[in-house]
Amino acid sequence: MTTVRVPAKINLCLGVGAPREDGFHPLATVYQAVDLYDEVRATAVADGSLRVTVHFDGDRDRETAAVPEDDNNLAIRAARLLREETGITDGAALAIRKVIPVAGGMAGGSADAAAALVACNELWGTGLSRTDLETLATGIGSDVPFLIHGGIAVGGGRGELISPVLARGSYHWVFAIAAVGLSTKAVYAEFDRLNADRDVPEPEVPDDLLAALRAGDARALGDALSNDLTEAALSLRPELAGVLDVGLECDALGAILSGSGPTAMFLARDDVHALDIAFALASSQVCADTAQATGPVQGARLL
Ligand code: ATP
Repeated sequence: MTTVRVPAKINLCLGVGAPREDGFHPLATVYQAVDLYDEVRATAVADGSLRVTVHFDGDRDRETAAVPEDDNNLAIRAARLLREETGITDGAALAIRKVIPVAGGMAGGSADAAAALVACNELWGTGLSRTDLETLATGIGSDVPFLIHGGIAVGGGRGELISPVLARGSYHWVFAIAAVGLSTKAVYAEFDRLNADRDVPEPEVPDDLLAALRAGDARALGDALSNDLTEAALSLRPELAGVLDVGLECDALGAILSGSGPTAMFLARDDVHALDIAFALASSQVCADTAQATGPVQGARLL
């Protein structure tokens, strides 16, 4: 039996270009892994099957969370891909302990896929290196290579081409989690609709964001946070503007949506400030739940 812990990701900037011929949008993003963790436990099974069960932590509703417990689960897809790549025929029972909000723009499904790759790789003794796994991960989803890698990294291509970033400091985040998730696909479709008559420039990572990370300057990082999907996500969920406002009224150093939303994220000065922001969000009842996390942290790791 092997158990792997995998972090959530946030995008400190998310530059989105016009869709490519293959339908994917070119991205210029900076990922950070934060210490909200899912766990994936892989146990050997005798019959060569691949199975998955999902367990939720806390009181988030199982119904609204709707994570498939069949072949559509990204963890199963990852295990299957690893078998195809290595020719291994062993099976595995995967048990996912879910903490990362579902459909929250924090790449929870991709995180479980990354964890399943690392866990099954160990369980089956395939001998693939972490670099091999990162390469394989590009076939599952754009965020999966980063979730194996962890830390802070620039993501190019459709997000899967990652390169590490020189960064200092540890950052305190507060998340406002919505009761109902947003489909990433729907947000990108809305982005295309809103930009149909506009010239969408090639996305770039802002220099001031990289400078803030090099300096370990949280205040400058807060000013440099950006997300090109904001307009589209707010168009689908106008009430998210009010959520961002609550954090800004508490002097958050920065407030943006995480990925395609609807999770909103706030940069705090320190732990105490993070608690203030979380308290204000909870008492204003603008979200279903709050979470605090610190980043950067390592990617998917065996426990
Ligand atoms: P991203 O930030 O990568 O765009 P997200 O965080 O918004 O994604 P996920 O939590 O990854 O969204 O879930 C998106 C959908 O993927 C879910 O609604 C669910 O149906 C499906 N899914 C498949 N496998 C998983 C998994 N292991 N965990 C969560 N969702 C999964």
